[in-house]
Amino acid sequence: MPELPEVETIARRLREILIKKTITSVTIVKEKSFQGDPQKIVGLPILDVSRRAKLIKFHLPNGLHLLAHLKMTGQFIFVAADGSRLGGGHPTDDWISQLPSKHTRVIFELQDSEGKAHHLFFNDQRIFGWIKVVTDQEVEAEFRKYGPDIHTLDASLKYFTQKISKTNRKIKQVIMDNSIVSGVGNIYACDGLNTACIHPARRASSLTPEEVKKLLHALKQVIVLGIKLGGATIDHYRTVDGFAGKYQDHVRVYGREGEQCKNCGGTIKKMQLGGRGTYYCQNCQI
Ligand SMILES: [Zn+2]
Repeated sequence: MPELPEVETIARRLREILIKKTITSVTIVKEKSFQGDPQKIVGLPILDVSRRAKLIKFHLPNGLHLLAHLKMTGQFIFVAADGSRLGGGHPTDDWISQLPSKHTRVIFELQDSEGKAHHLFFNDQRIFGWIKVVTDQEVEAEFRKYGPDIHTLDASLKYFTQKISKTNRKIKQVIMDNSIVSGVGNIYACDGLNTACIHPARRASSLTPEEVKKLLHALKQVIVLGIKLGGATIDHYRTVDGFAGKYQDHVRVYGREGEQCKNCGGTIKKMQLGGRGTYYCQNCQI
């Protein structure tokens, strides 16, 4: 599942290549993947591309936007007029094989200022992802469902402390709750807790003010590193240029069961917590 750093990386890549290109056609292969009237956006230029939580927003004129969520298996692949590719999302054969594929759900044709035609493919194996045509107000309503992005100033120590101290839920589940803070997926939750030396199953309300501060700092740090490295690509597509990220080479505990903790040399263990594989060091995470 693409996490915030992966989604941020895709948004940044798309921003570089889509700005000022005009949408000339929208082909909806799977009805479920596209909500709204595609005719409303045909003929409009893409003004900007941004990200909030794990939502990608394509800014259009007239107060309209395209909002996209990749969910479990979504991916965007831009194929330029010259055949070159750029994109990201769930890593599959579609990164490198012929498009459209059997997983292609929506195809955008885009024209640049020289009249050349390019294509943007939205592929999604499991069809949980979506693209919606929305207004300014609808974007705001969608964004209100999410807490502040963890690496931004809005996720302040005061805000984080208030949220953490109020609940007896396990700390890992609290930091992964998008209504509290956005952007902390499984990989980064495990790594942030290890950096802060906090056991994932601790009750949130039991954290001391010092631990809360350390945890917030650690989460910001791992997410910023994740974004810097283009996210994580944990599979055999890890070298596909213009798609894969490098965070997997820098993970602290995620996927490293039986290996040594980078803090203390202790052995990394794996347990199930809230149905998710959770990695931690039994020696230094208390
Ligand atoms: Zn350790």
